[in-house]
Amino acid sequence: MRPSPASELRCPQCRAVFRGADVLTAPSPFDPDSELRACPQCRQCEEPLRLLCDAPDCHREAGCGWPSPKGYRWTCWQHQEA
Ligand SMILES: [Zn+2]
Ligand SMILES: [Zn+2]
Repeated sequence: MRPSPASELRCPQCRAVFRGADVLTAPSPFDPDSELRACPQCRQCEEPLRLLCDAPDCHREAGCGWPSPKGYRWTCWQHQEA
């Protein structure tokens, strides 16, 4: 899962919420094809950052990605449209 610059994420460690554009990234030393993502506030990367629902004003964690007519979306179960 690669967050888009506009998507919102939350750090499980310090609970900071920030945009995908602000995430710190570095090439993974374990796998050259993937990258590490770290919280811009506490700089931890041990626990994966949580992607938040992309519905406006919803700060639940996104549970699933699904294709919508306007493009791919990540939402919580409540904002998922079948
Ligand atoms: Zn953090
Ligand atoms: Zn939601």
